[in-house]
Amino acid sequence: MANAEPPKLILPTENDGLLTGDFAGFYQYVQRDFEGQVSQAWEGGQYGFVRNPRRIGSQIIYTRFHEGIDIRPLHRGATGEPEDIIHAIAGGTVVYTNPVAGSSNYGRYMVIEHHLDGFPYYSLYAHLNSITVNVGESVNQGSPIAVMGHTGEGIDRERAHVHLELNLLLNSHFSEWFPGHRAADINRHGIYNGINLAGIDIGRFYLELKKNPSLTVAAFVQQGEPWYKVLVPISPRMDLTNRYSWLLEGETDAPGCEITFDRTGLPLKVRGSSDHVTQPTLTWVHSSPFPQHLLTRGLIRNHGSEYVLSQEGTQYIGLVCGLQR
Ligand SMILES: [Zn+2]
Repeated sequence: MANAEPPKLILPTENDGLLTGDFAGFYQYVQRDFEGQVSQAWEGGQYGFVRNPRRIGSQIIYTRFHEGIDIRPLHRGATGEPEDIIHAIAGGTVVYTNPVAGSSNYGRYMVIEHHLDGFPYYSLYAHLNSITVNVGESVNQGSPIAVMGHTGEGIDRERAHVHLELNLLLNSHFSEWFPGHRAADINRHGIYNGINLAGIDIGRFYLELKKNPSLTVAAFVQQGEPWYKVLVPISPRMDLTNRYSWLLEGETDAPGCEITFDRTGLPLKVRGSSDHVTQPTLTWVHSSPFPQHLLTRGLIRNHGSEYVLSQEGTQYIGLVCGLQR
């Protein structure tokens, strides 16, 4: 019997190389210059720690995190401009558009709020040439929403692509948190600033959905590898677990909680704790022979034989759990 349910997610353009196994035709390459070898590595278009290789001893590790996937164009006009139409990957509501290419390293970008499995998730489409829908508009899965471009940082016409993310929203108080922590920057994007959106491994999620169409985002995230745990005081401004109750484990009216993160800083689990702390305290880190700051976007660092939260790490945890500066 045919499955009558619509797919949870569809790809945003006609490029379906991800699902057919043509990864080099799907992912836009990054220019790589490593140990004298210049290459165009499609691997750098994937989600994850896929950029900025470094050799440590006999091993190479990739230190720069890419929070989404970069999808190559299939159509170009006479002058080489990409012409692919971008479609909503699921039904939802347009909650944010940034029409000013220069005001974000995402260039022109937009965010759609979806309710998947009953929870709000946010797809983000970046480096757009133009956006063809407005904030507040409802879109169906597959609705045209934008045209591919090459706006934003570190991208040119040759490397044109759509950068696609699927995110958890970290804190709805983001706009109040931001001024104290990023004094040098101006937040032009409200709560839909990329800093406040934590991306899941959307490339792998598409592949897992192909095998199991009813896989939930929650179950997928919970498969993630724990990398560190942080004990934090309960704050009324922490609303992550209101949005994503599936993160919660154990008693919920404790004075503190312990949050488990993966390497990228994506929260995997929140457990109530009777241990009281006044500031974020690292309780466990996955051991590694490599310097932790290279593995964790600089959020964790080695300190003698110990691991500690860096200043960036403390700020990030403060955002996640709504701690005021
Ligand atoms: Zn990208």
